[in-house]
Amino acid sequence: MVMNMECDVLVIGAGILGLSSAYHLKVRHPNKRVLVVERFGGPGQGNSAKSEGAFRNVFGSETNYLLADSTIDWFIHLQEDLGYDLKLAKIGYLWLFSEKQYSHHSEALEKIRSRGVDLAVFKRGELSGKIPDLVVDFEGDEEAELLGLEPVDFGVLGRKCGSIDADSLVRCYEEMFLKLGGEIRYGVEVKRLMLKPEVELGLPGEPFIWQDVHVAGAETSRGEIRAETTIVAAGVWSGRLLEPIGLDPFMRAKKRQIFTFKDPRLKGLFQVEGLNEHGVLPFTILPKAGVYFKPELTEGSVWLGCADNLGRRFGLEEDPQPEEEYYTNNIYHVLVKYFPCFRDLRPVNMWAGQYSINSLDQTPVVEALAPDLIYVGAASGSGIMKCDALGRITAALYAGEKEAELYGGKRFRVSDIGIERRNVERESFII
Ligand SMILES: Cc1cc2nc3c(=O)[nH]c(=O)nc-3n(C[C@H](O)[C@H](O)[C@H](O)COP(=O)(O)OP(=O)(O)OC[C@H]3O[C@@H](n4cnc5c(N)ncnc54)[C@H](O)[C@@H]3O)c2cc1C
Repeated sequence: MVMNMECDVLVIGAGILGLSSAYHLKVRHPNKRVLVVERFGGPGQGNSAKSEGAFRNVFGSETNYLLADSTIDWFIHLQEDLGYDLKLAKIGYLWLFSEKQYSHHSEALEKIRSRGVDLAVFKRGELSGKIPDLVVDFEGDEEAELLGLEPVDFGVLGRKCGSIDADSLVRCYEEMFLKLGGEIRYGVEVKRLMLKPEVELGLPGEPFIWQDVHVAGAETSRGEIRAETTIVAAGVWSGRLLEPIGLDPFMRAKKRQIFTFKDPRLKGLFQVEGLNEHGVLPFTILPKAGVYFKPELTEGSVWLGCADNLGRRFGLEEDPQPEEEYYTNNIYHVLVKYFPCFRDLRPVNMWAGQYSINSLDQTPVVEALAPDLIYVGAASGSGIMKCDALGRITAALYAGEKEAELYGGKRFRVSDIGIERRNVERESFII
C-alpha cells in the first residue's frame, strides 16, 4: 500500500533519540503534525534496546555532564512522579584504579567533584572489606604479571549513576508521544531524503545548481512523505541517508557486545553492603582492558561488556553478531583474575549492537545540516543516558532558539553541540 503523506515534522528513526526528539517537539508544538517513521516493527529495535542501560553523571567534559545529569533527573521524575516503571536502580558506578591510574585522573576527578557530583573514594582495604569477591593485589602471580594487570588501590564511586531498562524507556517516550497526538508508522523504511528546489519548475533534472534547495521530506518503502522539516535520527544508519546528498554524520559505527551470566557462584556480587541502597555491587569498571559489568537486578544476572577500542574495526554492520570466543579468549582471563567467582562460567546469553562514535570528542551532534534538515546522533555510546537533553536541544533548534532549557531548568547553548560553532571539551572519562 502506498501512502503519500504530508506532515510538519518527519522524524526518521524510532530509537531513543528519535522518540525523545519527537516527544519534545510535540510538547512544544501541539498543533504541528509530527510523524515518526521506523523500518522495524516496533520502537528501539535498532541499537537502543540492545543497550546495557547504564547511566552516569561522572564525565570529564562539562557538556557531557550537563546532558547526562539533567537526563538522569528526568528519569527519576518519570519513574517516581509520573509512575513509569523504568526499572531504574541507582546502584552507582565504581571505577577500580591502581595508584598510578588514580593520580592520572585526580585532576579530572577534582573538577568533577567541584560541580557538586556525588563521588566517594575508597582505599584498597575498604574495598576488600566491602567486596570479598574482589582480588586487589597480584603479588607473585606470574600470569597476572604477563597480563600486565594493575592492582586495585582505589575505588571511585559515582552515586548518581546506575541502571535503567532501555526498552521500557523507549516505550515510555513512545507512549507519551502518542498520548499527545504524535503519529508513528512502523515498517516504513526511508530510501532517500528528497532534495528539492525551493521553487519547483517541474523540469527533468531538478534541482539544478542555480536553484536554492532544501530537504522536502523522504521517499520511503511506502511512498513519498513531504515534510516542512525532516529530522534524521537513524543512529548508525544515518550516513546512508545523509551521505548520498553530500552531508556528513560525523560518526562511525563500531561493534559492542554484551554477555550475560546467571549462576549461584555470582551471588556475592548481589550481597555487597555499603556502596548503594540495593546492597549490590555497583556497575564496575576494571582497571584493565576496558572490562565492565553490572548486576541486573530485574533478573538476578550479571551483564558484562568491554570497551575494545583499539583493534576493533569501524564499519556498519546490518546484523552484528556476538563472538563468544571474544569472551573466552580475551575478556575472561582478565575478569577471572579480579573476580575469581567467574571461573569456568560461560555466558547464558549474548548479543551485539553498534555504537555511533564521534571520535573527535566523543560527544553527540545536533545540527541543522541543510535547510529544513536536522540531524541528531553520534551519541558515542551514551545515547540512553543523554536522551532527554538531546531531545530538548533538537526541539530548541527546530524552534530557532539559541538556548535549550534542560530538565531542572539549566540552560544549554544549542550551537555548543552543533558543528559550525561546536564548543565541547574532549571527554576524558571514556568507557
Ligand atoms: C551493546 C551496547 C551497549 C550500550 N550501552 C549503553 C549504556 O549502558 N548507556 C547508554 O547511555 N548508551 C549505551 N549504548 C548506546 C545507546 O544504545 C545508543 O547511543 C542509543 O541507543 C542511540 O540511539 P539512536 O536513537 O541514535 O539509535 P537507534 O536506537 O539505533 O535508533 C535508530 C533507528 O533508526 C531506524 N532507521 C535507521 N535507518 C532507517 C531508515 N532508512 N528508515 C527508517 N528507519 C530507519 C533504525 O531501525 C533504528 O530503530 C549502548 C549501545 C550498545 C550497542
